[in-house]
Amino acid sequence: MPALLDVRHLWKSFGGVHAVRDCSFDVEAGRITGLIGPNGAGKSTAIDLISGFLKPDAGVIRFAGLDVGGRPAHRVARLGLVRTFQSPRVWAGLTVMENMLLAAPEGGREEVWRAVCTPARLRESEDADRVQARAILGEFGLLPLKNDPAGNLSGGQKRLLEIARIFQARPRMVLMDEPLTGVNPVLGGRIGEGIKTLVAAGMTVLMVEHNLPFVEQVCGTVIVMALGRPIAHGPLAALRSDPAVVDAYLGQVPARV
Ligand code: ADP
Ligand code: MG
Repeated sequence: MPALLDVRHLWKSFGGVHAVRDCSFDVEAGRITGLIGPNGAGKSTAIDLISGFLKPDAGVIRFAGLDVGGRPAHRVARLGLVRTFQSPRVWAGLTVMENMLLAAPEGGREEVWRAVCTPARLRESEDADRVQARAILGEFGLLPLKNDPAGNLSGGQKRLLEIARIFQARPRMVLMDEPLTGVNPVLGGRIGEGIKTLVAAGMTVLMVEHNLPFVEQVCGTVIVMALGRPIAHGPLAALRSDPAVVDAYLGQVPARV
C-alpha cells in the first residue's frame, strides 16, 4: 500500500539555522507513528511544513497522492490533513458539546445546507453529529462534562477536548505536536486510548512526543530525528539498542518519564 504521507528532500532554514535539512520519510495509513528526537531536531518545523503553516525552501510533500507542499494550512486541512497545537484552542464560552458540534465536518457549508434543507433533514444531520460527538467525548472521558462551559475545564481536559474536536471533523490524518504537554498521567492514558480507538476506526496519526513510555505504548513505529532529518525508524523497542539513536537522543532522556 502506498504511504498516505510522503515527504521527500524537505529543507527549511531560519536565517543561518537549517531547522529541516534534506528530510525524507513516509507515514503509512491507519497507524500511529511517533516523531521523536532531541530539542531543536526540527520536529515542530517538520509538522509546520507538512500542515501548511510554513512554506518549505525545497522538497516535496505528498498527501494521499497530492502535492501539498506550500499550500496554505486551510487548503491542506480541507484535504483532511490537520494538526493540533502545543496550547489547546477551544471556545471557552461555549459548552463542551457546542465545541464539538462546531467542529463537525463541512462546517463551512453548513449555512448552504440550512438554506436548502427541510427542518426534518436538518434535524437528522444535527442528530448524527451529536451521536458522533457523544461517542468521541465518551472515548476521551468528557461525556459527563458535555454541558459545562469549555472555559471551566482544566488544562488537561481542554487538551482532551481539542483532540476530540479534531476527530469530530473526521480528518484522514492528524499531526500532533506534544499532545501530553500539561496533561497528568491519568488524562495522558485517556488520550492514548482515545487516539488508538479513533485510529482503529480508520484515521492516521503522526505524533511528536517526548514521553517515551507513552510513545512505546501508543506508536507502532517511530521516526527518530536529529539535526533536521530522520536518523532511524522502526518500533521504539528495537531502536533502544541502535547506537546512533542512543547517541543522538536516548542517552539524554531518562528511561522513565
Ligand atoms: P524541535 O521541535 O525538534 O524541538 P524545532 O523545529 O522547533 O525543533 O526547531 C529546530 C531548529 O530551528 C532550532 O534550532 C530552532 O531554534 C530553530 N527554529 C525553529 N523555528 C524557528 C523560527 N521561527 N525562527 C528561527 N529559528 C527557528
Ligand atoms: Mg517542538
